[in-house]
Parts: sequence; structure tokens; C-alpha cells
Amino acid sequence: MASGRFDLRGKVAIVTGGNGGIGLGMARGLADAGADIAVVGRNESKSRAACAELGARGIRAIAVVADVTDKAAVAEMTDRVARELGRIDILVNNAGITVRKPPHLLEIEEWDSVIDTNLTSAFVCSKAVYPAMKAAGGGKIINIGSMMSIFGASFAPAYAASKGGIVQFTRACACAWAVDNIQANAILPGWIDTDLTKRAREQVDGLNDRVLARTPAARWGGMDDFAGIAVFLSSAASDFVTGTAIPVDGGYSINV
Ligand code: NDP
Repeated sequence: MASGRFDLRGKVAIVTGGNGGIGLGMARGLADAGADIAVVGRNESKSRAACAELGARGIRAIAVVADVTDKAAVAEMTDRVARELGRIDILVNNAGITVRKPPHLLEIEEWDSVIDTNLTSAFVCSKAVYPAMKAAGGGKIINIGSMMSIFGASFAPAYAASKGGIVQFTRACACAWAVDNIQANAILPGWIDTDLTKRAREQVDGLNDRVLARTPAARWGGMDDFAGIAVFLSSAASDFVTGTAIPVDGGYSINV
């Protein structure tokens, strides 16, 4: 259990997409630091399994079935978290999808679904938790970007647009809500071994070798590489850190 400035006991965190991959990695870190967790996702059985694992760490964990692209479902989700866990201190906007196609083959419906899931949902969820955070005297918002917040890729037009947008959205929230003692920061994961990238390795020729060659750490990241940064950005340790976009990438973004 974390202590001192990293202690999250008595705090409540919402993690969208917290039932697997990077989201579950962050939820594990927050739970180990003492936070109660609401795992938000569409797949109920996956969310319940994640909550069973998180609850075994000695905290309260609830599975909330919600599609983050559905504004009414997000409002119900935040009401339920406040009712059942008593408060909302931390929001991790992590739910994300991609459609791997070049711009000329991407359908508008595919564009909309990626932007709605990765970017608009962060706005909707952040706006939904803002009153509770303001009333509590502060809060922490963590948005998940990507290397495609910085770089382009031929196969990721909507994804790159959403992840570039999330960094700018983070900065806007950081400026607007500093007065309310709410810090908003983005994490930019490098190439991480999750369900999302298992498909990428199958679909994008040579991706695995290119990632290994460019990453100074010479490995793909794992979900547990996100536990520490999530605790830092959720705790009093980061109270003067806001509007940043922090790569967690084994050095990928600083290598030529
Ligand atoms: P996963 O596919 O493992 O997890 C995605 C999560 O998002 C799932 O928990 C899923 O839950 C949830 N989700 C997707 N759509 C919705 C929705 N409409 N409503 C609610 N939940 C939803 O991917 P990762 O762990 O890899 O990705 C997590 C985040 O990290 C994403 O934002 C991704 O873009 C980002 N990222 C990942 C990188 C990587 O290399 N893996 C690199 C850079 C960024 P459910 O299916 O139950 O709804």
C-alpha cells in the first residue's frame, strides 16, 4: 500500500476501459495505492472479472456497464459511482478503439466511431464528473493519448486525429479547471502489448520488428508499465503538474 504523497486511500477513481489492457494496468496501480475503483466498459463479464481481481487487493471495485459514446449512459454511470462509492476524485479516460485504414478507404461511419470513442467521450466524461470534483475541492483527470498524438501513420487517420485532439483537450481542461484544483494530464503510451495491438501486429506488415528496432528499451510495453504513472498523476505528488503529455514509451519518441 502506498503511503504519504502517493496515498490514494479514501479516493474514488473511474477508469473507462478498465477491464483489460492499459486501463486494467492503471486500475491495478490505483487499487494498490488504496483507491476504490469503478471499471467502465461494455463487456460486463470482463469488467466483473477485473473487479474481482481489483477487489482482492483490499479495495471496493464496481463494474459499470456503459458505452462511453452514449451521453445518457455516461450520466447514469457517474450518478451510480457517486451513489455507490460516495465521491469521484479521479477520472481516467482510457477507452479507445481504432480502425486501421488509409484516409481514402476510411468510411465516415468509421471516422465517427473512432472520434466518438477516443475523443468526444473524454469531453463527455470529464464534463460529467466536473461538478463532483469541484464540490470536493479538487480532482485528477488522466487522458490517454498515443505516439499518434505526436506522429502520423498511414493506417491511422481518425485515430491520430483523436489522439492529437486529446492532448489539446487536456490542455484546455488544465487551463479551465486549475482554479478548481483539478489537474488534467495526458499519458502517451508507446507500443504496448494488448488486445488492440495484437491485431495491429497481424494487420501491419513488419510492425513488430520496427517497434523493437526503434524502442531503446528494446521491448514492447506491458499493461503494468502504467501503474506507477497512474498513481503519480492521481495523487498529491502531482498537484503542480497539469496540462502535460507524458510519453510512457521505453524511449520510442526520443529515438531517431
Ligand atoms: P484494449 O483493446 O485492450 O482496451 C480497450 C478498452 O476500451 C477495453 O476495456 C474496452 O472495453 C474499452 N472500450 C472500447 N470502446 C468502448 C466504449 N465505446 N465504451 C466503453 N468502453 C469502451 O486496448 P488498450 O489497452 O491497448 O488501449 C487502451 C487505451 O490506450 C486506448 O485509448 C488506446 O488508444 C491507448 N493506446 C494503446 C496503445 C497500445 O500500444 N496498446 C498505444 C497508445 C495508446 P469493452 O470492450 O468492455 O467496452
